[in-house]
Amino acid sequence: MNYTEEVRELLKKINPGEAEYHQAAFEFLDSIQPVIEAHEEEYRSVCLLERLLEPERSISFRVPWVDDNGQVRVNRGYRIQFNSALGPYKGGLRFHPTVNGNTMRFLAFEQTFKNALTGQAIGGGKGGSNFNPKGKSEREIMAFCQSFMTELYKYIGPDEDVPAGDIGVGSREIGYMFGQYKRLTNQMHGALSGKGLASGGSLVRTEATGYGLLYICEEMLKAAGKTVEGKNVVVSGSGNVAIYAVEKAEQMGAKVLTVSDSNGYIYDPNGIRVDVVKEIKEVRRARIKEYADMVPGSTYVDGKKVWEVPCDVALPCAIQNEMDLEDAKTLVANGCFAIAEGSNMPITREATIYLQEQGLLFMPSKAANAGGVAVSALEMAQNSARKRRSFERVDADLHRIMENIYAQVALAAEKYGHAGDFVMGANIAGFRRVAKAMREQGWV
Ligand code: NDP
Repeated sequence: MNYTEEVRELLKKINPGEAEYHQAAFEFLDSIQPVIEAHEEEYRSVCLLERLLEPERSISFRVPWVDDNGQVRVNRGYRIQFNSALGPYKGGLRFHPTVNGNTMRFLAFEQTFKNALTGQAIGGGKGGSNFNPKGKSEREIMAFCQSFMTELYKYIGPDEDVPAGDIGVGSREIGYMFGQYKRLTNQMHGALSGKGLASGGSLVRTEATGYGLLYICEEMLKAAGKTVEGKNVVVSGSGNVAIYAVEKAEQMGAKVLTVSDSNGYIYDPNGIRVDVVKEIKEVRRARIKEYADMVPGSTYVDGKKVWEVPCDVALPCAIQNEMDLEDAKTLVANGCFAIAEGSNMPITREATIYLQEQGLLFMPSKAANAGGVAVSALEMAQNSARKRRSFERVDADLHRIMENIYAQVALAAEKYGHAGDFVMGANIAGFRRVAKAMREQGWV
C-alpha cells in the first residue's frame, strides 16, 4: 500500500461514517498523489498526512437560549481549528440545521488549503451550529448569537482564530456576536471579520466571494480564448455568494437566467434583476418565489434545481452536493462548457469526474470562492493597522489575488503533467504551501 492509501484507510477507521469529510479528503489525496510520490519517505517519516488530516483542535459546546414563548431551547455549537501552520485559524460560521461534526470537519479541511491559495497569513478553521435561523424573530437571532459567543469567545482572538460568516450568518449575526465578544472581553479588535462598516468591517467584504468567483471565472475563460461577456449563466442559491455573483456577472456583460433557494428556482429570460433579489433576500428575508410576482416575464419552478436550464456557464452558489451526476449530464447535454464553484464542494465526486472527462472548464471551490476569505484577511490587516481602505483599493486587491490564484492553480496542474486540471492544481498548490510551513515547524 502506498502512503496515501494507508492514510485513506486510517481516515475511514478513525472517522467512520463521515461521508462529506471522506469525499473532500479522498479527492485531495488523489490530487496530491504525484507530489507525495516524489517525497514519500520524507513525508511518511514525519507523519505529515496523518497530522494534516487531524484537526489541531475540535471544540463542541452547548448553546442554550430562550425563544419568544419563554421556552428554553438547546443547540450544539462547533469550532474546528484545523490548521494554524500559516497563521491564525480563519473560516466562517454556519448556522443551518444540517450542521454536524462531519460537515464542520470537511469545511475546515477545505478552508485550510483555500486560505493557503490566497497567499495571506491565515490558517484554516470552520464553525457553526445546527441552529435554524429561518423563521426566527430578530430577538431570537440576537439571543442565539449572544449565547453562542458566550462560549466561543474563550477560543478566538485576532492572533488566534478569526471567524467570519457563512450560510445563515451575515453581517447582522456577526454584529450581534461581535457585540457580545466585546462585552465579554472588553477588547475592540478584529476577532471576527465580515463586520458591518460602522463596527470596523471592510468595504467589499459583502461582495467579495461572488465578485471573486467571477474574476477567477473570467481568468479561466480568457485562457481558453473566451469571456464571460455575452454568455448565458445559471446561478443557484440567492444568498450572499449568489447575489454578488449575479451582480458581477451582469456587470461583465453576461445574462444570468436563474437564482434559487431550497424550495425552488426563478427563471428570468430577460436576465435576473439583482436589485429585486437583494430586496427579497437582504431586506425582507423572504422566499425567492416572490420574485415571480414582482418581475413580469419570470417564472417560479417549485421543487426543481436550476441545472435543467440550458446555459454556457454554471455557477453553483448554494450548498454542498447540490449537483449530482444526473444534473451534470443534463448541463453537458444542454451545452454548458464552464463551471466555477461558488459554494463549498457543491458537486458530488462522480459528477466532478464526469464533468472533467467531458472537457469542461472546471474551477473548484477551494480556488473559486477564496475571494471572501481573502478580503476577510484584508479586513484583519485594516483592523490591526486601524485603517480603512477605499472600495476601489480593496476591489483591486481582490482582483489581483484571484488572478494570482488562477495562475498558481494553472501552473501547479501543468507542472505535474495535468494542464487544465484545476482540481488537481488547487489541491497541489494549497498543499505545498501548508506542507512547507508544517515541515519548518517540526512535529506539532
Ligand atoms: P447564505 O445563507 O447567504 O445563502 C445560501 C443560499 O443557498 C440560500 O439562498 C439558501 O436558500 C440556498 N440553499 C440552501 N440549501 C439549498 C438547497 N439544497 N438547494 C438550493 N438552494 C439552497 O449563504 P452564503 O451565500 O454565504 O454561502 C453559500 C455557499 O458559499 C456555502 O457553501 C458557503 O460555505 C460558501 N461560501 C460562502 C462564503 C461567504 O463569504 N459567504 C465564502 C466562501 C464560501 P434557503 O434560504 O432556502 O436555505
